[in-house]
Amino acid sequence: ARAAYAAARPRSAAQHERAREVLPGGNTRSVLIYGPFPTAMTRGQDCRLWDLDGHAYLDLCGEYTAGLFGHSEPRIHRVLHATLEEGINLAAVGQGEERLARLLCGRFPSLAQVRFTNSGTEANLMALAAARAFTGRGTTMVMRGGYHGGVLTFPASGTNAATLPLPFVHAAYNDSDEAARLARAHAGDLAAVVVEPMLGSGGCIPAQPGFLAALRALADETGAVLIFDEVMTSRMSGGGMQARLGITPDMTTLGKYVGGGMSFGAFGGRADIMAQFDTTLPHAGTFNNNVLTMAAGGVAMGEIFTPEAAEALFQRGEALRARLNEIGRQAGVPLGFTGLGSMMTAHFRQPLPDRPYAASPAEEALRELFFFDMLAAGIYLARRGMVALSLPVGEPEMDRFVAAVGEFAESRAALLR
Ligand code: PMP
Repeated sequence: ARAAYAAARPRSAAQHERAREVLPGGNTRSVLIYGPFPTAMTRGQDCRLWDLDGHAYLDLCGEYTAGLFGHSEPRIHRVLHATLEEGINLAAVGQGEERLARLLCGRFPSLAQVRFTNSGTEANLMALAAARAFTGRGTTMVMRGGYHGGVLTFPASGTNAATLPLPFVHAAYNDSDEAARLARAHAGDLAAVVVEPMLGSGGCIPAQPGFLAALRALADETGAVLIFDEVMTSRMSGGGMQARLGITPDMTTLGKYVGGGMSFGAFGGRADIMAQFDTTLPHAGTFNNNVLTMAAGGVAMGEIFTPEAAEALFQRGEALRARLNEIGRQAGVPLGFTGLGSMMTAHFRQPLPDRPYAASPAEEALRELFFFDMLAAGIYLARRGMVALSLPVGEPEMDRFVAAVGEFAESRAALLR
């Protein structure tokens, strides 16, 4: 599969070889560094992509959840063109900033106030800074398998040399007892507990509601700031996973699609915590109120991804995941999808994981095979087997994916068993 992939993409291969001279790994996103070389795309329209070698794909990667609106949403294009006409980089307060802030504070239960950044990574860094300043404490509890940005990556097993040298205590995801033990052991210095309501890049593994409720109670008990990283999960309802579950954190971080496809991040929360930015805490950033992001985000959240649209997308994803999981069951092979709503990840084990795990070499080989087989079928996913539906993905596209997964389960049955 790997050889066939390479043979069909000489231009992507050449592009990769050239780029490696000036870009370690050949490009500037770790997630796109995989062997033998990543596919280079040239164009996107609605939920379709075309690569440098002329192949067309159904885009189910959805730019790792940032591509919620597809590649050519007309209302977003219109507002971006109109905004460009008025000039970019105005070095001043604009109008889009307040509009987007009001939209978000009106929707996410935890957001009394919000501030904008250029990425989810920055949003999490600023939320941590806010929590540490607010509590006057230093330690942050994170989850093994959690991802909050390049310098805030916490592998399921082992440590990560590139993580910021802040005092972190690492807890096991979905293990309330361990979280309680660690929180109490560090209670005097616990500034924050940061958690994704569903592990996103960690394999679309949802938090058990009891786990998040336990973290809420532990934060109350210890005085730590509970931060939900909803950079990926905010799409699960009009008000994110927090609204779906009825569990309100003290702070929330956002990113990805909320800026209508432009570079985006945001952090916000309780008024008393956010008030620090009115007085003592600095949060400068040349592009914090980038007019293109603010304009696109306002239209995206105000007119397109309404709470009703969010609910409909969630239900479409649930129905798709149920169909996909039927395939593995019917074929009697360990192929299944975890996730929630419009986000899901393929796993090659049964029962499906409810916690992060170290995949075996055999599982890794199947994951790679699945990725290349899907590409051969004209379907573009994240290399790790993650799907993030975008709004233009309709029933015919989902049927096509179900058929391709069915074909994979059949043609690769011997390897899967
Ligand atoms: N938090 C989560 C949960 C994420 O999935 C990501 C990005 N994959 C980030 C934070 C970082 O966002 P960004 O890539 O915009 O820095």
